[in-house]
Amino acid sequence: MLVKKMIRSSVLAVGILLAGMNAPFAQDATQERVVIAHRGASGYLPEHTLGAKALAYGMRADYIEQDVVLSKDGIPVILHDIHLDTTTDVAQKFPERAREDGRYYAIDFTLAEIKTLTVTERFKADTGKQVYADRFPGEFGIFKVPTLEEEIKLIQGLNHSTGRDVGIYPEIKDPAFHREEGQDIAKTVITVLEKWGYNNPSSNAFVQCFDWSETQRIRNELSYQGKLVQLIGENRWGAPEGTDYDYLKSVDGVAEMAKVVDGIGPWLPQVIEGLSENSTAIMTPTLIAAQRAQLMVHPYTLRADQLPKWAGDMDIALKAIFEDAGIDGIFTDFPDQVVQYLATNPGA
Ligand code: CA
Repeated sequence: MLVKKMIRSSVLAVGILLAGMNAPFAQDATQERVVIAHRGASGYLPEHTLGAKALAYGMRADYIEQDVVLSKDGIPVILHDIHLDTTTDVAQKFPERAREDGRYYAIDFTLAEIKTLTVTERFKADTGKQVYADRFPGEFGIFKVPTLEEEIKLIQGLNHSTGRDVGIYPEIKDPAFHREEGQDIAKTVITVLEKWGYNNPSSNAFVQCFDWSETQRIRNELSYQGKLVQLIGENRWGAPEGTDYDYLKSVDGVAEMAKVVDGIGPWLPQVIEGLSENSTAIMTPTLIAAQRAQLMVHPYTLRADQLPKWAGDMDIALKAIFEDAGIDGIFTDFPDQVVQYLATNPGA
């Protein structure tokens, strides 16, 4: 029903309309659990489009995520990958511009070129099939790649027009790759964030990065004063040089991170192993150490259409995350469902 309504209307208008349908725009007095819209309301509209971000805003997410990569001319744009070929029509529009590995890299295209592309639901490059079959129809090509500044304008503009204060949650993607290409993505992004007022510990922003060396550089060398989150992956996925996720997950690693960052962004299985016999969350040593170190813990990613094996439905997952494990916030493709859960379970 919601999706049908959305298609008929202007996407931006719908996000705002939904915002108006709920409670007044007063800021929650004590917001202890935060809902982070992962790539926007990406369960409903193509990830990292302004439509998905406006919808997430209307669904009352507390933070809206941006993955940031640089264009050839050094402009921060919002894309999950350093590649363009699994969310846009770059292969049709610029067939000659793939590298030898067959991939199309954002950093090989100017912003003007990137702006000619159409963004769709994520698809598999080899088959063209949508990754999440039941999400927004892939043939509805009505979206463009936003820049970081456009997205900040959208969120700050909505904050102005609604009186709310929704935060941003930018991720600095693959700094080592950008450095090899002659660009300093962290410095470029931090400059934009500071220009837009995200420059101190109380700014409504979290800057996240998987590269532990870079996170430390952002704090120490670039002297960024805002909130920082270290993302934690698995070594088997391929870790950036200077980053050992097994160490970061250890008690010593957590203590070291706590000296630099405000929070961690672990993969959900790194903090909840499953459910015990009495159906409560089994917390990992990493989670317990992080909570003892007073780090915020914002795991990724809760998806209603791809739940953890131990969770039969979203409510089971959310009870484990918030009530059993006492986690501070969650990245989700379905911010409306998490907002709804927290509204109906205020003690969670
Ligand atoms: Ca991300």
